Amino acid sequence: MTNELEIRINNIKKRIEQAALKAKRKTSDITIVAVTKTVDADTALAAFNLGLNNLGENRVQELKNKIQHIPGAYWHMIGRLQTNKVKDVVGQVRLIHSLDRWNLAEAINKRGVQLGIEVPVLMELNIAGEEQKAGFHPDDVQHFLDSVGQLKSIRVYGFMTVAPQVKNVEETRPVFRELSWLQDKFKSKIYSNVDLKYLSMGMTQDFDVAIEEGANIVRIGSAFFG
Ligand SMILES: *Cc1c(COP(=O)(O)O)cnc(C)c1O
Repeated sequence: MTNELEIRINNIKKRIEQAALKAKRKTSDITIVAVTKTVDADTALAAFNLGLNNLGENRVQELKNKIQHIPGAYWHMIGRLQTNKVKDVVGQVRLIHSLDRWNLAEAINKRGVQLGIEVPVLMELNIAGEEQKAGFHPDDVQHFLDSVGQLKSIRVYGFMTVAPQVKNVEETRPVFRELSWLQDKFKSKIYSNVDLKYLSMGMTQDFDVAIEEGANIVRIGSAFFG
């Protein structure tokens, strides 16, 4: 099992290097978040022991279990977050990727204030406008960034998106390109509590394309764990 996982990790790393090379970017600028949502805590621990020290979960209960099991990892919350579960996540993870609505930002801020910490988040954007998908509409980014300075315990470090599932991976490129473009556009302006340096985009289906388009965090699950 471990051996097979090791082979997969090496393959993915090679593909990341190739994509980075193609885009004339440094591999070391790209962080892999290994998404452990489909595997048990021991498998996640095996991945951590093989050097994948950023791990991601999309459910709070699983996140809590695995954090207990692997406290040394940098944890990432990548899934829909209910306001009543915010207390279990804030202060426990390195980055919340899935900030998708204003009232969640308020709840995260409130918890950050209670703990006396600054909470790092990414704004999740629904670029393709898929109805079933979470995320801010790109047209709402400006207003959010204008307002987030009121929430003193939040810091917005960039954007995250999930591309649509497609048959031909090239179809994801315009989605990633738009997220990159938005990042560049808003980077040139000054907002309080905002430091746009991360683009979290690309999964098993499409991480090569995402890297070519500027991703510096990729979230990969099934390519590692089957
Ligand atoms: C599951 C998940 C991933 C990883 O997906 P794979 O296709 O297994 O690589 C990435 N991001 C989010 C938000 C997810 O829920």
